[in-house]
Amino acid sequence: MRHSRWWIYALFGVIATVAAVTLPSPWAAAATYLVVACATPVAILAATGRRAGHPAPARRAWRLIAVGEACSAAGDVLYNWLDLVQHRQPFPSVADVFYLAAYPLLAVGLFRLGGRQRVGRGARLEMAIFAVAMALPMWVFMAEPVLVNSTASVLAKACDFAYPVADLVLLVLLVRLASRRGLRNPASRLLLLGAAAMPVADVVFSLSGGQGWVHDISRVCWLVAFWCWGAAALHPRSVSITTASGDTTGGERTRSRDRQVEPGGVTARGSSPVSRRRSFLLMLAVAVCPLMLGLEAAGLQALNLWDIAVASLLIVGLGVTRMHVATLEAVEQTRRSERLRAQVEFHTTHDVLTGLPQRAHLLHALRRQRSGAPAGTGAQAQVGIHDPAGAGALIVLGVDRLKVVNDLHGDEAGDDVLRAVAARLNGVARRSGSAGRLGGDEFALLLPPAPSDAELHSLLGELVEFPVHLPTVGRWVTITCSLGLTVDPGRRASVEELLREATAAAAQVRARGGAGYAVCDAGLRAELAEHADLETALSQALRTGELELYYQPVVDLTTERLRGFEALLRWQRPGVGFVPPDVFIPVAERGPLICDIGRWVLNEAVRQLVDWRTRGVVGPDARVGVNLSGRHLTQPSVVADVRSALQAHGLPAGALIVEATETVAMDRGAVVANLEALREVGVLLSLDDFGTGHTSIQQLQGLPFTTLKIDKSFLGSSAQVARSQRGSAPASGDALIGLMVHAAHAFGMTVVAEGVEETDQVRRLRELGCDFGQGYLFARPAPAAQVERTCAERWGSLPAVPTTS
Ligand code: C2E
Ligand code: CA
Ligand code: CA
Repeated sequence: MRHSRWWIYALFGVIATVAAVTLPSPWAAAATYLVVACATPVAILAATGRRAGHPAPARRAWRLIAVGEACSAAGDVLYNWLDLVQHRQPFPSVADVFYLAAYPLLAVGLFRLGGRQRVGRGARLEMAIFAVAMALPMWVFMAEPVLVNSTASVLAKACDFAYPVADLVLLVLLVRLASRRGLRNPASRLLLLGAAAMPVADVVFSLSGGQGWVHDISRVCWLVAFWCWGAAALHPRSVSITTASGDTTGGERTRSRDRQVEPGGVTARGSSPVSRRRSFLLMLAVAVCPLMLGLEAAGLQALNLWDIAVASLLIVGLGVTRMHVATLEAVEQTRRSERLRAQVEFHTTHDVLTGLPQRAHLLHALRRQRSGAPAGTGAQAQVGIHDPAGAGALIVLGVDRLKVVNDLHGDEAGDDVLRAVAARLNGVARRSGSAGRLGGDEFALLLPPAPSDAELHSLLGELVEFPVHLPTVGRWVTITCSLGLTVDPGRRASVEELLREATAAAAQVRARGGAGYAVCDAGLRAELAEHADLETALSQALRTGELELYYQPVVDLTTERLRGFEALLRWQRPGVGFVPPDVFIPVAERGPLICDIGRWVLNEAVRQLVDWRTRGVVGPDARVGVNLSGRHLTQPSVVADVRSALQAHGLPAGALIVEATETVAMDRGAVVANLEALREVGVLLSLDDFGTGHTSIQQLQGLPFTTLKIDKSFLGSSAQVARSQRGSAPASGDALIGLMVHAAHAFGMTVVAEGVEETDQVRRLRELGCDFGQGYLFARPAPAAQVERTCAERWGSLPAVPTTS
């Protein structure tokens, strides 16, 4: 029922309107008219009561409108009484008092219904243009004839003038309400139609002189105004008139698809293009003067040309101002999107935590600077990368023991440290140069052109040690840094080389315990060059087959039977000779080469074991352990690498052991995820060199390792043990080994002791409960062919132990 009330009322209005102008009896016509006029305020009050769900301000606005309509209706009753009963048509009459009283009430109601709107400069100017354009015909048709040319009384003149002014106010309010975003529903359309009908009725009425069919048109318009407002109030969507977005800033009522959405979902305000409805209204406004001139030309209406001249001047002046405002708004809009673009760019090239440029961006800036690209253009200007001429110095700064801060005070405190270091570097960079974050605890400072030696040393000194405030924990700590510096006066090196030099110098300081600085000198440069040379040679070695795997047996300590092997990499470098893995593995680990090497080792070791298994050199349960580097283990591809090696040769996953060192495993993150994935494949995982890092055995809980390899440094010689038993030497590692074995077993891991060289060590390890041993005592790492012979000699009669773990 609620939903059909409005159109029932509208239908009633339409029928009554037709009746009011067609009924032959003036009494019947007037009665029909008055029924609509009097029903409307009642309908409005009934429809917008408390139960209708209108917010309180809207209820008050509708009440004002209802009172306004009631005033109008009262005016109509009085007018008809004078006309039909008294047969008089005085002007002004008591009816006009009520008619004129209705306008301010309706205007305030309409204004309040519009809610709190932010009306921009552009919209205000457009309203002014519209008001001037509408004022012209009202002046010409309604006000001017009575004010200038008639002999009417002052009161009559004032009354005649008040109507067009009131209509004009209503029209402007109408435009204001129509500019609201989100006002597209039948309720608001009815409201706007009703409001527009009133000025039209007044204009037509003054043209008609209250006589004939033209007068009927004005009666139709008044009636339309009545029932439209009644139907609008009755419409269920009338609630949304006040709840629609009250935003009329600048360009305002645009269709949603025209709305400019800036990145980040912000709707551009202020300069949105003018909507179709508004441009139509503007066009109409601009056409008013020419249309009036047309009337004059056609001889339909005599005009005072000064009226047209003044109105045209005003419309042109306001129009030009509107255009100017639009230009300003467009400029502002461009500026805003520029700013936004710069912000987006800043976020993609800068570190979120410290706000410093990221590695890639810093290197890019360095490259640009060296290639002499002009300063201050494009991205550079926005991100504040200094672009001075000439080459300079590059400092790499590593924060010492950041992990300790994280562990002691929490990660937020670690972030505080990084922010403080960034701020300090920024302070230096502001004087000369630019700072960036390379990643983790590493920063870079670019100083172009290089300051004098004295300045450099004082600067480095400033950065080695300084106090830092940690706001998150509310305390001061002193932090130290490891700094590496390289100077490049002759632009001899590439950007990457410079960074490598400075990083290597910083690494030297770190290796010495941090809290200092080192300059990349000729010696370090030569070492780096040698590394680069080694890297090239190594990648060639991999391709030409210079690499070879040696195998070292792993033995069951109780039965002394063969358990499996560890594969160890060897490189016979042509013209140089044997290069130890401790030398070339770290070089390969600096780049992706180590992953290629890892894949090769996996394939070769798996192939060899399958070959031995099929030829019966080893038992069907022998295993092979492969060392994988931390870098390789962080790559998600490592799982696929392992799988494909197993598949290529048909080795069951349980026969392969992947060895990872303690430091790698404790890095967490990607490594742990990959280790878990490997464990799922069925591969065994061994924690290498246990005890050399700072890991406690408890920290292993939750990690997917199946085997613990105790580092050889824990296995004291029998001489050491004897001395410690006499009390002349510190206690041997035996007690520690005992603890480790105990804990490892508790976590379900087996234990391998590395570096077993003496028979006595075997006895002690057995007593301590250690499961397996590996070392020179059993066999040195050797090429496959030699291992085959050793196996045949020592374990020939014994197959590899079948175990369950
Ligand atoms: P690791 O994994 O701890 O390997 C054990 C090292 O101890 C081997 O040195 C082995 O020869 C040595 N060793 C075995 N038994 C004894 C003994 O009784 N006494 C003594 N003093 N040493 C013994 P190697 O072969 O020189 O390897 C050194 C390191 O190089 C390895 O340490 C491992 O970290 C790395 N490495 C070797 N091969 C590879 C590989 O294929 N890939 C990767 N990523 N690293 C490898
Ligand atoms: Ca190993
Ligand atoms: Ca080891």
